[in-house]
Amino acid sequence: MTERADVVVVGARCAGAALACHLARTGRTVVVVDAAPAGSGQPSSTHLIQPPGIDELDGLGVGDEVRRRAPALTTMRLEFDGHQVDLSYRPGRPAHCLRREALDPLLQEAAARAGADLRAGTRTVGLVRDGDGRVVGIETRQRDGTTARVLAGLVVGADGRASTVARLVGAREYLGYDAPRGSYWAYWPRPAGWPPHLVYNGSFGDDNHVAFPTDGDLLLVATSPPTPRARAWRGEHRTEYLASVATNPTLARALAGSEPVGEVRGVASGRYFFRAAAGPGWALAGDAGHHKDFVAGLGITDALRDARGLAAAVAEGTDHALVAYWRRRDADRVEMARWARTLGAADRVNRLERLAARRAAHDPSLAPRLGAVFDGLLSPFLLVPPGRALRWSLAEAARGRPGVLAPLLANGARTVEARAQLARMTRAAAATGPSRCPPRR
Ligand SMILES: Cc1cc2nc3c(=O)[nH]c(=O)nc-3n(C[C@H](O)[C@H](O)[C@H](O)COP(=O)(O)OP(=O)(O)OC[C@H]3O[C@@H](n4cnc5c(N)ncnc54)[C@H](O)[C@@H]3O)c2cc1C
Repeated sequence: MTERADVVVVGARCAGAALACHLARTGRTVVVVDAAPAGSGQPSSTHLIQPPGIDELDGLGVGDEVRRRAPALTTMRLEFDGHQVDLSYRPGRPAHCLRREALDPLLQEAAARAGADLRAGTRTVGLVRDGDGRVVGIETRQRDGTTARVLAGLVVGADGRASTVARLVGAREYLGYDAPRGSYWAYWPRPAGWPPHLVYNGSFGDDNHVAFPTDGDLLLVATSPPTPRARAWRGEHRTEYLASVATNPTLARALAGSEPVGEVRGVASGRYFFRAAAGPGWALAGDAGHHKDFVAGLGITDALRDARGLAAAVAEGTDHALVAYWRRRDADRVEMARWARTLGAADRVNRLERLAARRAAHDPSLAPRLGAVFDGLLSPFLLVPPGRALRWSLAEAARGRPGVLAPLLANGARTVEARAQLARMTRAAAATGPSRCPPRR
């Protein structure tokens, strides 16, 4: 069987369902296929959605429902070897954390309401090309073995980090590296003493734990051990997860006497990367085109942004517009990806982090800077102003603790490298022409 559509999208979650919604609203015929059966719940992902992601959800008409189900998260408590500091999102611009088994159906329903044709249990197994090698469609296989073709003017891979479309088109990877940490998580009843607005991110030694209040009055608690340790947990991951959570004094105290609700899920390894996101007859959106360390909690937000950016490029109707979408994506994401790489490194808490947490806890002017970072108003590398970090560090060294200087220098080098990458990618984006997809804010 062969069908035709204006656009065929492979993958029906944050990137794919959102893109289908945007495209169908403009009157295009859109077929969206997903290998997963209908109602197949939660992919392997936690689900903090940053404020710009909530903006995107508003644009798709589902933001109010997300706000209704999941509490507003206004404060992020960071902890480094016992030194705590509270940072804040900007007033009126909280994050939310809705389980994917609730979020993804909301997006799929929005796409269907807009007129997209969603097909669950339909795996893309091949591409159709014309005589010039241009991609002009997909080959699919249903769970019962039935095969079919959908021909389209554009094929979009929104099929996640192990993207079949990216593999079939040979999308080039760059800035890639193996994930330094795995992650395991479970849902706990939110303890009475845990405020519903408080996100926690705590590091002790080389361990990292996060806790996010989520829908159903639950607390998502995740531990992210270095990859070799996470790999060794296979088969024992529930026991190891519980043992790891118990080593974090803040979580151990909050969760004492409680048990997780349901299973412990996780990933032991992975890879972070950028991929070329457009070519003749094809484009990539979401994790298929760029997957960054989950520590920044930005994958969902960025997949939703890709959806809007790519829809705007499709409206222009040229291959050049698709390339411009790809280059703008790179310039938009590279700094955060580089920051996430720094935060997610499998190293131990260093003296600079301990010092910064101690000092920042007494400097209220720093707290709102976190929200400015997530809203794209401030470089993540300027979360602590460099001049202040330098003053704190020199004062610490003068007190006979020079160990703070090595991480300060390493941070400086990483900042320079990230800014250089940003400058290169901004130039490449500018060379493709002006943006037709302005930031939502
Ligand atoms: C451990 C972990 C924790 C994370 N925590 C967060 C967080 O707190 N906040 C955040 O914003 N992000 C987080 N992320 C990232 C986030 O999960 C992703 O960025 C997001 O899911 C990307 O959405 P997507 O639509 O691109 O891909 P996915 O959500 O991966 O969806 C891809 C879809 O494609 C389908 N598919 C795959 N192959 C085929 C095929 N051949 N044919 C048809 N369909 C196919 C799949 O069935 C799937 O439904 C985390 C990731 C990990 C690994």
